Amino acid sequence: MSATSTTPSPHPFTAGLDHGLLRYQRCESCGRAQTLTRLACAHCGSEHLAWHAATGHGTVVAASVVNRAPSDAFRPLVPYTLVLVELDEGPRVMGHAMPGTEIGDTVKAGTFAHEQRQLLRFSPTAH
Ligand SMILES: [Zn+2]
Repeated sequence: MSATSTTPSPHPFTAGLDHGLLRYQRCESCGRAQTLTRLACAHCGSEHLAWHAATGHGTVVAASVVNRAPSDAFRPLVPYTLVLVELDEGPRVMGHAMPGTEIGDTVKAGTFAHEQRQLLRFSPTAH
């Protein structure tokens, strides 16, 4: 990923975020879901993969506060919270989160604009 590129990404995951959709891949052969783009199903090896829109609901399985930005683009955001969320559909996805988000919290996906892109951010859901 180049920070200087101005070419819009055609990637379904990134393009989905631009439209407020959190997408994941599901194997058409065995039904397993995955969020990291692969050429084949990590479970059964099938290449029959399709993109689906998730509800965005999930549970936080890991959370950390980032104090050092990985690039200039993220420097204005620090400190920020990153979480790994297990979606209700099964796959796990990494995203930003509201400060104070902890493991076990139930969250819903949303997006926020940064550097002309939509980034994934999870907010706590009411119990
Ligand atoms: Zn499969």
